[in-house]
Formats: sequence, C-alpha cells, structure tokens
Amino acid sequence: MSSLLDQLHAMRRYFETGVTKPYAYRKQQLLALKKVVEENEQAIYDVLHADLKKSKEESWVTENGFFMAELKDTLSNLKNWMEPQAVPTNLLNLPSSSKIVQEPLGVVLVIGPWNYPFQLLFTPLMGAIAAGNCVVLKPSEFAPATAAIMQKIVEACFTPEQVLYIPGDGATVIPEMMNHFSFDHVFYTGSTSVGKIIYKMAAEKLTPVTLELGGKSPCVVEADANISVAAKRIAMPKYSNAGQMCVAPDYVLVHESKKNELIEALKKAIPNMYGVDASKTDGYGKIINEKQFNRIITYLTDGTIVYGGKYNAADLYIEPTIIDGVNIDSKIMKEEIFGPILPILTFNTMEEAKAIIAHNPNPLAFYIFTSSNEKEKAWIDAVPAGGVCVNAASVHLMNPHLPFGGRGFSGTGAYHGKYSFDTFSHKKSVMKSFTWFDPALKYPPFNGKLKLLKWMLG
Ligand code: NAD
Repeated sequence: MSSLLDQLHAMRRYFETGVTKPYAYRKQQLLALKKVVEENEQAIYDVLHADLKKSKEESWVTENGFFMAELKDTLSNLKNWMEPQAVPTNLLNLPSSSKIVQEPLGVVLVIGPWNYPFQLLFTPLMGAIAAGNCVVLKPSEFAPATAAIMQKIVEACFTPEQVLYIPGDGATVIPEMMNHFSFDHVFYTGSTSVGKIIYKMAAEKLTPVTLELGGKSPCVVEADANISVAAKRIAMPKYSNAGQMCVAPDYVLVHESKKNELIEALKKAIPNMYGVDASKTDGYGKIINEKQFNRIITYLTDGTIVYGGKYNAADLYIEPTIIDGVNIDSKIMKEEIFGPILPILTFNTMEEAKAIIAHNPNPLAFYIFTSSNEKEKAWIDAVPAGGVCVNAASVHLMNPHLPFGGRGFSGTGAYHGKYSFDTFSHKKSVMKSFTWFDPALKYPPFNGKLKLLKWMLG
C-alpha cells in the first residue's frame, strides 16, 4: 500500500513540474497511445471475444474504432480547445480585459466497468490526457483478458508518473487510493450502487466527480410510429452485447393499438440480426459471468415469454427474449435489466406512460418512436433524461458533438468530444485591469453613488 501511495505522490510531483501542460506534450502522448492501440488491433479483438464474445465488427464500432474516432477528433481540435477564450467585460469592471483559461485538473482517477471494457476506460483516459492531466486507470476485474491487454498498452506508452495502471478488486484498491490520496477528479463508469460509494469517498475530500451510471432507459412507441423500423432499431441495441449496454432500451412502452404489430415485427427483426439460434451466431454476445447470468434469468418468470427464453449456464448464454404481461411492481421493472430480456408494456394515454416511467426517474437515455413533431416535442419535454433519441435508440452516444452523460440517478457530468476535454479541465477566469484609468467611483465612501452604480451594473 505504501508503494502505491508513493507512486501516487510521484505522479503529483510529476504533474507539478508543469511538464504535462504544453500542447506538444499532450499531442505526443495521444499519438503514442494511438500508435500502440493500432498495433494491438488484432489482440484487442481477441480479448473482447474472450471476455464477451464480441465480433470484430461490433468491437470496432463500439470499442477500439469508437475510441479511435474520438482520438482523431481530439487530435484535430485540441490546439483550438486549449486556446484561452476572450470574453466581454462588463461596464463596472472597465477598463479591463477578461478571458477563460483551460487548466488541467492534476492527478485524476478513471474507473471503468466490464461491459465495454476498452472504450469506457480509454475514452476518458484520452480526454484526461488531452486536458493535460496525469491519470490513474482502474479497469474492471470482470473482463480480465481486456484488462491485461490494456495494461500492456498503457505500459508501452507511458511512464507510471504519466499514467498508472491499477488492476484488481475495485472494493479493495479504490478505497485504498481514494481514502489516502486526494485526487483532483474521479471519473467513474459503473453501477449506481457502487457510484454512491465512490461519491461518498470523494465527498470526504471534496473531490469533484463525473458519475456515468446506469438505470432503466424506456422506449416509447407511439401509435403513429413506423413499426417495422422501430422494431429493428430497438432490437439492434437491446440484444447487442447480449443486452449488457448502459443505454440499451430497458423496456418498451407501446401504444396498446400497436402492441401485436410491434411484437410480430420484433420476432422478425431479431432472427434476422442475431440468427434463428443465437447461440450459434458469432455476433451474439455472452453474459459476462455466472453472477450476472443468475441475476438475469430470474427475470424470465416476471412475465409470459413471447419470444426466446432459452438459456445455457455452461456457455453463459441467454437467448434474445421478449416478455409480455409484466407487472409494474415486479423485479424486472424495478432493477436495470442489463441483459437480453425485453419487457413489452402498453399505454393508452401519455399520462399513463409517464406514470410508468416515473417509477424509475432520470433515465440515462429515453427513446421515442413517432412520426408526429408535436408528440416528439411533448415527449422530449416530459422526461428528464440524460439523452434522447427520436426514432432511434442508443446511437446518440456515437456523435462526439453531443455531450454524453446522465442526470440525477443516472449520473452527473458528461463527456465525448470537446466535452471530455472540458470535463478534465478547469475553466479559470482571468480578469486583467488597467491602471491608466482609476475613477473614485470604484472606492468607498459610496454614499450618493447608488444611481450611478445601478446604471453601471445594468
Ligand atoms: P460496477 O459498479 O460493479 O463496477 C464498476 C467499477 O467499480 C469496477 O472497476 C469495479 O472494480 C469498481 N468497484 C466495484 N465495487 C466497488 C466498491 N465497493 N468500491 C469501489 N469500487 C468498486 O459496474 P459494472 O457491473 O462493471 O458495470 C455495469 C453498470 O455500469 C450498469 O449499471 C451500467 O448501466 C453501468 N454503465 C454505465 C455506463 C455509462 O456510460 N453511463 C456505461 C457502462 C456501464
């Protein structure tokens, strides 16, 4: 433990030399990371297949390719993002000039989950480096093959003062670090329950946090939606990575009049994408471990299975499944499913649907399928969610121009693209006042100056 603390203090001293601040340093670090990730492309596919049975194509879109796109976007824009931003100065403070300077935070801790183990650790790492920080990386212990390759990549690119890789049991190593060392920021992706533990530890030292949490992301299908398109766009992210996706549609709320049509369209879409027997489809994932498998299969008894329902513990396989007749008070409607089971609920009025959504407030994402602009607007206004897709699900996170994050129960803060740079930078306000004009108005006594002060402050 003392050696870990020694390493953290060495990082702090390294950061305080100021070496991480210049653009040239940051760019060189990002290019080094890019090169080694590229060199390890095949190895990354192999470990993601070993941990989660991901295909190469899925890995590229959601893991290393996603990361590369963010990295290239950052490299093209970083110089510009780092520029101080000139802002106007108000009348009261004239003559002065004002600007916002982007300052690195210091030594930051990035904690990752197992479901997109590469992307969800390396994308915030990239944002933290771009912003000029030293970074401690804690991968999930439940995707061990990916954790090992990421360690190899990090150690090939960086010294331990620059980026320190700390694998192992989160419940042990994270408190060891957070309770004895003051990080300048903690960026956590994972479950809401562990997020609360992280938030409490951070609060003890007033450490700022970004919390990228989970939750139940609802998917509303209105009567006027294009049902066959909706079915495909729900099925794709729901069963991708065997449902182990933070922004997967958790459950569907379909207008009563379209329920049967939607179920029939889903029954057509699922085998087209994941095979008639998904256990034999290489592009269909496996559940990460026995604990998660045992949790997910208990949901199968919370309703009537209308599609799928088969599972096999030896292969950690759960078939893409649709269930009907689900009670709002059942376990599957209280917990994040995080597996390939899709409950279909119905509504007749927007109020009814809103009441169901309100049982699990502040979803990470909210999806609305409709062809009506009025309904689209009404739904966007109605649900306080981290992000929204209209006539799509989960894809908003692929656009680096949109901030990605939750609100309230689904998290705090956001990242991707410039928002990652902002998350890991402090916006330092700088006002420079000139001395050639120094009116008496600025100094006491202020008696009799009220009218003038009111005018100057607007
Ligand atoms: P998790 O909370 O179990 O683990 C996340 C990290 O926390 C791991 O690195 C783990 O080692 C560490 N950890 C575990 N217990 C700890 C403890 N007691 N003290 C300190 N650290 C501890 O989450 P998970 O199971 O890996 O991921 C699944 C969850 O993450 C789901 O809820 C999902 O919705 C959410 N998630 C959110 C996003 C997002 O971007 N918002 C992305 C992916 C996953």
